[in-house]
Amino acid sequence: MNNYFIILASGQSKRFYSNKLKQFIIYKNKPLFEHSIEKALGSKLFKKIILVVNSKKQIKTNFSKNVVIIRGGKERSDSSLIGLKYIKKLKPTNVLIHDAARPNFTIKLLKNLVRSLKKNKAVIPIINTKDSIKYRVKKQLFNLSRDHSFSTQTPQAFRFNDLYGLSIKQKGKIQDEATLFIENNLKIKFIKGENFNNKITYKEDIKINKTFVGIGFDIHRLIKGKKLYLAGLKIPFHSGLMGHSDGDVIIHSVIDALLGAMRKKDIGTLFPDNKKKFKNIRSTKLLKPIVEIMGKNKFYINNLDINLICEQPKVTKYRDKIIQSLSNLLKIDESLINLKGKTVEKLGLIGKEKAIACEVICSISQ
Ligand code: ZN
Repeated sequence: MNNYFIILASGQSKRFYSNKLKQFIIYKNKPLFEHSIEKALGSKLFKKIILVVNSKKQIKTNFSKNVVIIRGGKERSDSSLIGLKYIKKLKPTNVLIHDAARPNFTIKLLKNLVRSLKKNKAVIPIINTKDSIKYRVKKQLFNLSRDHSFSTQTPQAFRFNDLYGLSIKQKGKIQDEATLFIENNLKIKFIKGENFNNKITYKEDIKINKTFVGIGFDIHRLIKGKKLYLAGLKIPFHSGLMGHSDGDVIIHSVIDALLGAMRKKDIGTLFPDNKKKFKNIRSTKLLKPIVEIMGKNKFYINNLDINLICEQPKVTKYRDKIIQSLSNLLKIDESLINLKGKTVEKLGLIGKEKAIACEVICSISQ
């Protein structure tokens, strides 16, 4: 095992509009470049991992002694050569060069690359292009056949001496090390890359979905001779829920959970029970504006989990109908809603079928 891994993290992020350099942006809970270090360490394939950065001051994490941090150059190819020169004295057999902007490769890919180096001097992962590509020569446009074009990814793997020999002779800018082999008509072994090993180039590539959770609870007393409404459905029962509105505990809890997640106070503030216009109102009409507020603020529901707390009616009998109704009211897929029934061992008001309670937890994203 005489392999070395060079991670290039000294780019200027010209296409990435943010006040932070792309390679240091927090991605899945850690700086972008750390994903590559972790995988290289985890693979146990490398004697040393060389991280090439603009300034060592940018690195806050303490890594194991196998990770060396060095300063890079102006262009990507300068940084790559600086990395190669650094490891030359360690007499490496193989070197893998990787762009820190690709955090999503797998250890399996690393293993495939190193294995393929036994019989090849340069091993490059490629994927088929998803887009149709055109290219321009002067004013004329040409189609590139999708069957004959592909994208190269990193990590790219090389026998050290071969790559080093080409790199020190290279004068102009190059986009990746594969280019050196192609320009010199040298053989490259292409292996299957990974579709999710995409390069983070634009800020939009990192979908920063803000996710929030909200909790809701409600309880209403049951009284004889009233209609029972749950999740907007009329359910045959000996009693109905008493309240300023129709007392629909499921909808009220859902509303509070959604408002909580959006950090917009509670149902009582939005629909005060001293207002005549909400007297005996169907709760479905209270839910409608909440769904609209969500839409206006670009929130969407990830899931809802509901506990309906009562002795009767039995949840199993109405579960599908309740979920279907909520799915219609909230305009979300049924698979995102879960309903659990909970009895209370005949204890208290709920146990004596004199009240029904409900609690809801929801997750939403923006
Ligand atoms: Zn209520």
